[in-house]
This record gives sequence, C-alpha cells and structure tokens, in this order.
Amino acid sequence: LWNAVLAELEEKVSNRHHSLWFQNTELISYSKDLLTISVENEFIQQRILENHKQDIVDAVFKCCGDQPELELIIREENKEEQGFFDFEEKANAYWQQEGAKEFPAVHANIEAVKQRIQLNDLYTFDNFVVGPSNQLAHAAALAVANKPGETYNPLFMYGAVGLGKTHLLQAICHNILSASEKHNIVYLSCEEFINQFITSVEHGNVEGFRQTFRYIDILVIDDIHFLANKERTQEEFFHVFNMFYNAHKQIILSSDSPPSEIPELRERLVSRFKWGLVSQVDVPTFETRVAIVKKKSRLKGTPFNDSVCQYVSENIVSNIRELEGAINHLLALSDLHKQNITIEFAQQHLKEVIIPEETMIQLPLIMNVVAKEFNVTIADLQSKKRHKSIVVPRQAGMYLAKKLTNYSLLEIANFFGKRDHTTVLHAVEKIKDLRKQDKDLHEKLVDIEYKISGTDSHE
Ligand code: ADP
Ligand code: MG
Repeated sequence: LWNAVLAELEEKVSNRHHSLWFQNTELISYSKDLLTISVENEFIQQRILENHKQDIVDAVFKCCGDQPELELIIREENKEEQGFFDFEEKANAYWQQEGAKEFPAVHANIEAVKQRIQLNDLYTFDNFVVGPSNQLAHAAALAVANKPGETYNPLFMYGAVGLGKTHLLQAICHNILSASEKHNIVYLSCEEFINQFITSVEHGNVEGFRQTFRYIDILVIDDIHFLANKERTQEEFFHVFNMFYNAHKQIILSSDSPPSEIPELRERLVSRFKWGLVSQVDVPTFETRVAIVKKKSRLKGTPFNDSVCQYVSENIVSNIRELEGAINHLLALSDLHKQNITIEFAQQHLKEVIIPEETMIQLPLIMNVVAKEFNVTIADLQSKKRHKSIVVPRQAGMYLAKKLTNYSLLEIANFFGKRDHTTVLHAVEKIKDLRKQDKDLHEKLVDIEYKISGTDSHE
C-alpha cells in the first residue's frame, strides 16, 4: 500500500520534496482507522505533518478508499541521534566543500552501475596467495563469496595499502559472477559512490540514486575510508547500508584502517561496520612473499627460480604492490638486455628499485632523537594529543622527516599517526616559521639534525 501511496504522492508533491521527505519512510502498520509510518527524524516528521498530511490522506483514499488517521513515528534507531539539519543547506555546503561541480556526470541507473563492474581478470582467488597475514580475511572472503548474505554481513576488510584488499574484494565478485545463480552485484570504489551520489543531488535525483541500489543484491565498496569527513555522503551511505542489511543482502567493504579509526566517521556507521566481521590483512611473512613472487612471475610468463624469488622477498618487505613492481622491473630489463633472470642479474638490477636501508635515514631514528631532545615519549609523538608541548615536537619530527628523508608526505603522516599528507605540509610551514622567531627552537633543531645525520653518516 505505502508504495502505491508514494507513487501517488509523486504526482502531487514536487520531485525534490518527494525525495527529501519521503525517501526513507516505511510502513509500520495499516488498518482502516490508522496508518502508521516511520520516518527518520523529527525534522522530517514535522515537515511531512505540516506540508503533506492532506496529500497523504488523499492518496490513501485514492489507493484503497479508506480514510485512516495518519501517525508518523520516528524510528527507534535514530532517536538518540537526530540530525535536525536542513538537507538542502547541507548539500549545498557539501558541494562547495567538495568542488562537486567538477565531478563528471554519472547517471545513476542500474545499467550504468552494472557497467561499472570493471574487474581485473587476475584478481581471482586462484591467484591469491594465502599466508598467516591474510588467511582470516581470505577465509571470510571465500565464505561470503559462496553464500552471500548468509555468513558475515557486512564483511569489513582493512589493512595498509598494497596488501591485497582490492584483490580479495574482486575475487569475491569474480566468484559470485561465475556462480550459476546470478546475482546483481556492484563493485564501486568509494569515490565512485561519492561522485554518483553528489551528481544525483545536483540533478535533484537522490531518489533515483537510491532506487538504483534496490535492484542490487550485493554491494562491494572499496576504500570506504574515503567517507571520512564526507558527512552528507555518510548520511546517504547509512541509508543504503540499512536497506541492504535489513534485506539480508551482502555488503562488503574495504578500508585502510579499522572502523573506529576512520576519522570523522559517524558513530552509527562505525558500529554498523562492526556488525558482521572485521578482518585485517597484514604485512606478508617472508614465506608468503616468496610464494607471491613465484606465482606472479609464473603468471607473467617467466617463472623466477627459487634464489631470485628469495632475494626479491628479502629486499621488499612491506608492500605486495612494490613486490610486484620489482618483478615487473626485472622482467622488463631481462627483455631489454636479452638476459635471463639469474640471482646476479636480480642483485644488480634490483638496486635500481630498492633504496638500501643503510644509506637511508629511517623514520624511527628521527622519532627517537626528537622524543629525547624534546623530552616527550614516542607514544606522544604518534598520538592525537593537541597540547602545545606535544604538537611542536611532533611537527618538528615531521619537518625533519621531510627534510632529511625521501619518505613521501603520506608515509611521514602515517608514521606520526596522521592520515593526511597535508598535515605534514602544514607542520613543515609551521616549523619554518617558528624557527625564525624562536632562537631556542632553532638551535635545538640544528642540534637534532646533527645528531640524526651524524648517527647515520648521511651524505
Ligand atoms: P590494496 O587494495 O590492499 O591496496 P591490492 O589488492 O591492490 O592492495 O594489491 C596490490 C597488488 O598485490 C595486486 O597486484 C595484488 O594482486 C597483489 N597481491 C596482494 N596480496 C596478494 C596475495 N596474497 N597473493 C597474490 N597477490 C597479491
Ligand atoms: Mg585497493
């Protein structure tokens, strides 16, 4: 009945209002005398009662000839977290903040979404090497792929970059797509989700965006941590999540950190992300790396021998994507020089992609010296504490890391417990300024620099 009423209302109420106020309403109960509908929050409840009560009564009458009383209740789950915000105002602020006007237009319809499943053919379970670092995530992924919606929902996988999250997510997709029983599955990067949503807001077609997801049985979103700070999209994702969860449809997410460490993520999403299974992919062990090099080199048509596999795995330790980069590097050079990939060849040429550890100033060293000289703990430096006595040493640490090492801004940020590379840029500027004004600080930094470079005989 309620769907029929909503359809009826579509004619009466402007599109925008329809999607703003009615998109998340649900029928609770219905009798000749009383129609009970649940809404998301008090704000929407008031809007509907003020502006559309008569429309609803009329529509019900048209649909079934009854004239029940209308009762709007606020859904239990939302009671403690009512956002009395104005959707439009929020959306506007959001567009400006995100520079959304520049996003490409995406049509939120099912065909378009279907086409968006662009999977890498190589990211299958067969090509995935299982080891202690990923066996739990792998097992969970297999379970979900075999029985979507029936085991862990949502499945939430997290881990640092280059450790196989996207590979596992896509392996699930491959499995489900090739199973005899066809499912409507969608694989989206979080950015795609955000872009599509923003476009739908721009076109006043949020309802269309939502409808799209109604046709989907399995939703896979990669790098969900990009929802950080994106309040309006979080709001929307919350609805999508609930829709899937309530219908026992499978949700699969990946992230670079566990739910509670994604910054500025609404608590209700954090808790929902933990409802199913949260599983980590970790840095692979040596044996796993060797197995990966073996497999990858074979897949690429030139299996490396054992000593080469081991040599590569000894030298590239923390990132499988880099491991793969090294394999590609060796393959390209062997092609170029028309030489076989022997251990000598690998030793000679891997130097080009590996920065030898001993000539490189390491971040822990900087951290140690800074902590000592500023009389704070390393935990403080890596914490989120905002006290000035810690902020300055932390910023000094980032400044020195930037100045003295080749680490990327993001790597430095991560090492100091921050996730955004702009934090490091900001710290560098800050310390440059402070240095000019504060003679003590300046001397301290000269001192520290000397200690760090001296210890490491750098340059
Ligand atoms: P993430 O999404 O976590 O950043 P990816 O899934 O993109 O990482 O993985 C990076 C590369 O490493 C891909 O080429 C992937 O195939 C490969 N890879 C990661 N883990 C494994 C594994 N266990 N076995 C084989 N290849 C792997
Ligand atoms: Mg990825």
